Amino acid sequence: MGQRRRRGQAPDPRTLVDAGYVGHAPQTVELVKSALAARRGSTGLARLINTHSHSDHIGGNAALQAAFGCRIVIPAGIERMVAEWDTHALLLDSARQRGDRFAHDAVIEPGAEFEMGGFAWKALPAPGHDMEALVYHCAEQRILISGDALWQDGFGIIFGEILGRKEALPATRATLEMIGRLAVDIVIPGHGAPLPAYLKSVPFFDHVNVTMLGFSDEDFASWLLGELLRSKSIEIKDGWILPTMAP
Ligand SMILES: [Zn+2]
Repeated sequence: MGQRRRRGQAPDPRTLVDAGYVGHAPQTVELVKSALAARRGSTGLARLINTHSHSDHIGGNAALQAAFGCRIVIPAGIERMVAEWDTHALLLDSARQRGDRFAHDAVIEPGAEFEMGGFAWKALPAPGHDMEALVYHCAEQRILISGDALWQDGFGIIFGEILGRKEALPATRATLEMIGRLAVDIVIPGHGAPLPAYLKSVPFFDHVNVTMLGFSDEDFASWLLGELLRSKSIEIKDGWILPTMAP
């Protein structure tokens, strides 16, 4: 994260969110080194914060800690599995992934507020893809670090659904609705480039419904489908809703 120092305020620690897969760890260390070198007065990497427990987010933790001596902060919900290095709960066994064991220094509780890059952030619970995941929201800068709870074209696979946890699917929906209500201009997802203003359309549609239509969710969805069909933005082929290139 960038650093904005207010007068009289101590410099905040350089923080990285998530660390990539273990196979890319040397590359991740080099990328962080060059990012730090590009900033004047760099004080090194002081802190690494994870969004959730998956191998492509915690895999570089050990290497980064060895290279920079950074503190590692993890969501409180994954503390036991990390401390005991429960490779089953960490999905390393079932996904046939490797992971370098690391020791965490602190946890972030859901709802906790903390400082990062000179701004205030809040950790929000985002169960679904990972039931213990957190997303990090900066209301002042309208930024959301979404991990795998939201990508540009979807979100991470709902592992709980595969593992038979019935609550995973409704939790995913509730998390997306929660994200849709946040004041956000930029989403920094766990995979892919940041999405500028991606979510603005969600509150917009909500607003149109509340102020002008007052439909139930179901009626609103069918009204929206009708409008998109009428404007030829989508078409239905063999039961699938498909986008069209028509104006
Ligand atoms: Zn994930």
